[in-house]
Amino acid sequence: MTPIPPSRVAWFADLEAVADRIEVLGELRDEIGLTTLVPESHISHTSAFRASAAVAASGPFEAWRDQPGLADHRAGFGVAEPAMAVLPGIVGGVDDAPLLRIIEECRRLGIEVWGHAGVWCYGAEVFPEHAAVDLLGRPLLPGSLPWGTMFCPSAPAPRAWIAASLADAAGRYDLDGWFLDHARYPSPGFAPALLACGCGDCEVAGRELGVSFGTCREDLLRLAAALGRSDPDHLDALAAAGPAAVLAWLDRWPGVLAWLEVRAAILALRFGELGAAVQAASPRPVDFGSDVFPPSVALLGGQRYDRWTTTATYLTGGFGPRIGWGSVGRVTVESLGPALAALVPGMTMEAGMRVVAALVGARAEPDPTTDDDAFVDQVRAMALARGGVPAYPPIAGPPEPARLARMCRAIVDAGLPGAMLAGLERTSPEQRRVIRTELTERLA
Ligand SMILES: [Zn+2]
Repeated sequence: MTPIPPSRVAWFADLEAVADRIEVLGELRDEIGLTTLVPESHISHTSAFRASAAVAASGPFEAWRDQPGLADHRAGFGVAEPAMAVLPGIVGGVDDAPLLRIIEECRRLGIEVWGHAGVWCYGAEVFPEHAAVDLLGRPLLPGSLPWGTMFCPSAPAPRAWIAASLADAAGRYDLDGWFLDHARYPSPGFAPALLACGCGDCEVAGRELGVSFGTCREDLLRLAAALGRSDPDHLDALAAAGPAAVLAWLDRWPGVLAWLEVRAAILALRFGELGAAVQAASPRPVDFGSDVFPPSVALLGGQRYDRWTTTATYLTGGFGPRIGWGSVGRVTVESLGPALAALVPGMTMEAGMRVVAALVGARAEPDPTTDDDAFVDQVRAMALARGGVPAYPPIAGPPEPARLARMCRAIVDAGLPGAMLAGLERTSPEQRRVIRTELTERLA
């Protein structure tokens, strides 16, 4: 018998905001039925774990303060002093007193606590020697700065240390689960990242999976050449015929889809290694998952749920315009459409966006006012695609009550068992009422 997934009303919370007014935890438990806290410090970007001295000292990122790329990172990613750099794993130099106090209060209240840490897809401008490169060996910098510069997931030394640093925290804190952040490739709106990571270490991993990066590279170059000879009207007609027609056309270059599949397979293996390290170190079995791209762009973002859920015990979504479920499809169309048009002589940007929209099943005419519709579409799609693990869609903000109610209803109507909400410390009584009546009580 399949176990019934736990209903969760989870809060992806600013740790400092919770520590400043810890009574908010009891209020939210009583007013909205808060079940789960995921604290993230906006200073350390983890749950403010204190790394063991030996683990911190052995880390490849410990000297981040001395790196020339730090200035670009602070400017491009918007992390001003006193915030630390956004890096994979858990670096040293953090005071965990606020976290310990929060865990103690959650235990008293019966609220779950999930630890948070980030991995690959931000911060590599600080350590460009560990950054992902594309299939032609080119760096993603500097164009990657506003999108996030990814670390190679396969380079042996960072790979081993990230797992060790997560295990170090998992073994020493009283946690019920983990939310691994940035466990993906960059937003697919950043076209050059679609060709990453193509380094030698990832190539070895691809070979072990039976895929030749050389074949992928050749087919991707052949596709680019074919696009350069294509009639824009033909591509437009293909797009109008639907995603199946576009995919059938792409079949002439099997290395293209093989590339998207293999980079997703490699990332799922790395994610699985981290999950195994955390589970082995934890004093009891814990939930382990991450934010994932919504179904329409998941493969372009390097995530296949069937592979991911061999490790993940739940799925949730990320926050922000380039990742969020309501907006990432639109951002992909807006960004890749012009990139496609630049490859096809005579193609307009609008036509480029129509073709990309057909591929990702997004709207052809990007319009931010349709993001709520897109969120509802993605929630429904996720209910079908989640592969048997619970999925908790992301609600940022949260938005004003009518929009919030629509999002909560979409989640329950789709049969999903809860949500991951951000910004709850700012919610009005009316927003809390909406969460209680439209989400928590309907999940019960
Ligand atoms: Zn690599």
